[in-house]
Amino acid sequence: MPVPWQEPEIPVVLLPSAPVGGIRSETARTCVAQVFGTSEEIEIPVTISTRTLVVKELISQKTGVHVDDLKIMAKAGSFMRMLKNSDEVRSRVFVKGVESFSRKKQSYQHPHGIIGAGHNGLRQALVFAEHKDTNFVLFDRHNRIGGTSWLDHANKFSKDSANVQTELGTYHLNYSDQCECPKGMSPWPSRDELLKHFEEITQSAAEAQDIHGTWAGQEAGRPGLELSPGLVAACLSRGGLRDTEKENHTHGDDQVKDDTPPTRAHKRREEDPEAKKTRRTSNAVEERLTITEEHPAPPGEPVRRDCGKKDKMVKAMDTWIGKEVLEEARCIICGLLQTTHQTMPYGGRGGQVHPLGGQYQLKVFAEARMYVARFPEEAGDLLKQIKKVRKQIRKTRGRRRQARQTTPSSSGEAAALETGSDAPQGRGTDRGKAQGEEPTAMTRPQHVTKEDVDTVGERREGMNADTPPDWGDSSNDDDVPTYEWPWGDAGRPSDRGDSPSHLAVRPNEPKARGRLQLVPNEHWRGVQLVQVCDAWGLRAHFRLGTDVLRYVVANDGNDQTYRLSLRRDKEESEVMVSSFVIYPGNLTNPRREDYKGEDVFGGPISYGMFDETDYDALTGKRVAIVGFGAFAVENIRTCCEHRVDKIFLVCRRKNLCMPRMVSWWINGSAFPVSSADVLREMEDAYKMVGDDPWGYYAVLCNESRTNVTIFQKARFGIGDIYFLSRYYGKTEVVQGTIKRLSEKSLHLEDGTKLEDVQAVLKLFGFVPEWAVDKFLQLKHLSGIWVNDDYRIGTMSEFPTVNAQRFGGTSLSPGAVGWCNIFYHFWKYPQDFDKMMATGMLPKHFPNLQKDEPGYVLDAKIGSQTLIAISSLCPELAEVTAKYDDSFKRKKQWGTHSLEQIQALAEEDWLRYCQMFKEAGDSRPFPPYPYSKERVQKMVERQDREEYERFVKKGWIQ
Ligand SMILES: Cc1cc2nc3c(=O)[nH]c(=O)nc-3n(C[C@H](O)[C@H](O)[C@H](O)COP(=O)(O)OP(=O)(O)OC[C@H]3O[C@@H](n4cnc5c(N)ncnc54)[C@H](O)[C@@H]3O)c2cc1C
Repeated sequence: MPVPWQEPEIPVVLLPSAPVGGIRSETARTCVAQVFGTSEEIEIPVTISTRTLVVKELISQKTGVHVDDLKIMAKAGSFMRMLKNSDEVRSRVFVKGVESFSRKKQSYQHPHGIIGAGHNGLRQALVFAEHKDTNFVLFDRHNRIGGTSWLDHANKFSKDSANVQTELGTYHLNYSDQCECPKGMSPWPSRDELLKHFEEITQSAAEAQDIHGTWAGQEAGRPGLELSPGLVAACLSRGGLRDTEKENHTHGDDQVKDDTPPTRAHKRREEDPEAKKTRRTSNAVEERLTITEEHPAPPGEPVRRDCGKKDKMVKAMDTWIGKEVLEEARCIICGLLQTTHQTMPYGGRGGQVHPLGGQYQLKVFAEARMYVARFPEEAGDLLKQIKKVRKQIRKTRGRRRQARQTTPSSSGEAAALETGSDAPQGRGTDRGKAQGEEPTAMTRPQHVTKEDVDTVGERREGMNADTPPDWGDSSNDDDVPTYEWPWGDAGRPSDRGDSPSHLAVRPNEPKARGRLQLVPNEHWRGVQLVQVCDAWGLRAHFRLGTDVLRYVVANDGNDQTYRLSLRRDKEESEVMVSSFVIYPGNLTNPRREDYKGEDVFGGPISYGMFDETDYDALTGKRVAIVGFGAFAVENIRTCCEHRVDKIFLVCRRKNLCMPRMVSWWINGSAFPVSSADVLREMEDAYKMVGDDPWGYYAVLCNESRTNVTIFQKARFGIGDIYFLSRYYGKTEVVQGTIKRLSEKSLHLEDGTKLEDVQAVLKLFGFVPEWAVDKFLQLKHLSGIWVNDDYRIGTMSEFPTVNAQRFGGTSLSPGAVGWCNIFYHFWKYPQDFDKMMATGMLPKHFPNLQKDEPGYVLDAKIGSQTLIAISSLCPELAEVTAKYDDSFKRKKQWGTHSLEQIQALAEEDWLRYCQMFKEAGDSRPFPPYPYSKERVQKMVERQDREEYERFVKKGWIQ
């Protein structure tokens, strides 16, 4: 009889560390973990049997501190007991080895570098701003922000219509959870409107985040940046001015306007002029900081003396930022305020000669820039004067140096350089008179004395409001140094309150003779914004007009750093950065090609970008546009607006072009839109021009059209005008390759001849630049990082289209993602190591045979890479998850509603119909294919169907 099968007896081996106690209880409970020595605690959902090691691992993952460095303790009677890894975790534990449960960000000695001030580079700067992180610097070889795309390629001729093809809702710099949607802009803004938006956002972000600070190492003598850059910067920027401005001083700290009631500080100063400086300082400190807690310092505890509260520990409320500051921050603020007042009393010599950071410096630059902006024709003369002033300064310095060499340093010399109180303001020091005098630390030049107030008032009245800043005598008598402070006795325009500085509204602005408008016109607003940004905003971090030439790796102690070589105005310099990312752009290098017979063609042949083409000259002409990318579609619009007679769109293959409302629908979709749906919604527009989108080379699908991919070598051109101009016969698509040109004719390879063509616009697309690979010393890209180094990254928009589903057609949703990715791994490099250790990050190599540099990822590889990065790093996914499809919808719909955008699109459609009618086509206007009701239905159907699909797949519960 067969023996029935019996389960073999497996001997149970109890490992020493194995939990003893039989079946483990899976009953849920909560463990409250508290950082030892603080009140910070978190609740961790655990079960009865959860071991201490599990909790340690969780905390390690959250904080980035290694498990072995964590100690978990629990109370045992009146003692604390250290829990072993194998112990069941208690319901209340104390954690040693961490300072906080929030993750500790990696700090860097040098700033992070951003190369490129296009859309991507600016968004990266804003990501820093949003984290209140001031330790970055941005370089661009252009002198303005905006990037190659908008500064060089976009043409100015489309200013009446659109330039951005996708919609503003998903193409703006406010695309983050910390910003409001832009208001009052067109859904398809022009180049100039967009550039203005870039300027505004970079500034207002800095304002909102209070990140006026500077980056580490930017200027010597700005301590405490690591502690609280915002505080320090605010202190530096406002500390010196606040007292005087607020109290409406005319010049110096003594000059109080008669109608201003004297403050407590003034009264005290009046009483005791000797002590006025110290009092003023402490008054400024008091004004800013209200002490909330004061207690004697414990014995042995070091106490900072510079806060003026000897042997006391204090806490104070910082009224400027509305937060309580601790002892350390308070001391730094006090110290800074004191230093600022001591070295640079308002209107004093410190302010005149202090090389950087004086209260005046930025104002002075601003007013100079403003003057030149208003009177550009005088720039030449001003430059000459500046040169002279520089020369004088150099001479003065030389003389001082000489004097120091001949006369041994003495207290008398110090006094001479300090300018005696009786020396005439704005004059050079009288060395003979000054020598031998006792130095007085408190003596300051009387820039304008109290008695002078009336005289100054008189002078101001008689002053020509539009006189250029007086940068010295314009006579050629260089040899006789005047030692006059360039603004003369009347003081600087900024002193007089006439300066167009960052203080936008100045009630005393003279209005006569067409002077600067206080209700700003566009130009003035633009200039003003730029200078405001320069002075206090994000732009303090921008180094424009600076080409980054190369980098070398420099190991600085334990930390890897990079030395960037820069070139600005032909001068080379170097800067150290801890990491950098380059956003070189993908539309930088247009493909160029010459045709045979161009010399005999007899009409203008140009590239339809860089403002190269004079579109006004094309009116009434027959034009050939060669190429069929997004730029070609944009050129159809521009040509139509300039009333050309006929457009031949010559292309090897027809690319898919997207109607405006379809693009808007995709960019506001709550779930990615399938390619099949995209094509179905494009069908009506194509029907108008007798085409079937399903027949295009870019569409790969099965017979039942359920499995559809759109793979196109060029990005979608987006615009209704393409369809309308084809409908009206204005645009004719001609498939073929140009063989040669002859007089007013194009000859194609297949023998077709296009006759009576009067102009050719070439739009051959762009080629990536090997120079970027060379600059990056790129062997391969791991994900979006160069040669496996998390500190060097690069990203540019994908040049192709390759998808089964579309989440968007616009840059901003992608940009916010990758900018946060770079930021995350710089701050938490341990996550990068973990991600690399999986070996699953896609690699991309340069391909010489195909002429494809490594830094450019095509749409397929690029999107796979981004998906891989997010899924390999759960901590990062937490950050990027907030920028999901519903966020995208919020931004897209929040910027312009369906009703608004549809109405504008239809209005444009009818405007163009009218234009074609005026050109002689009397057919009734074709109805706009995307009515409001239709678009509403598109949205509803896609929402419903995709929701059901997600539920069916189990992705939504
Ligand atoms: C007319 C036009 C319309 C467009 N419309 C749309 C649209 O509707 N929707 C959309 O999504 N996209 C559109 N685009 C695409 C556009 O290119 C991107 O949206 C975006 O502007 C790219 O920004 P970027 O920062 O990557 O690159 P860029 O704008 O090319 O900027 C790169 C910057 O990097 C700087 N740089 C590079 N190397 C260095 C170096 N070594 N040193 C110093 N500086 C350096 C360059 O000077 C440049 O300023 C359009 C482009 C154009 C031209």
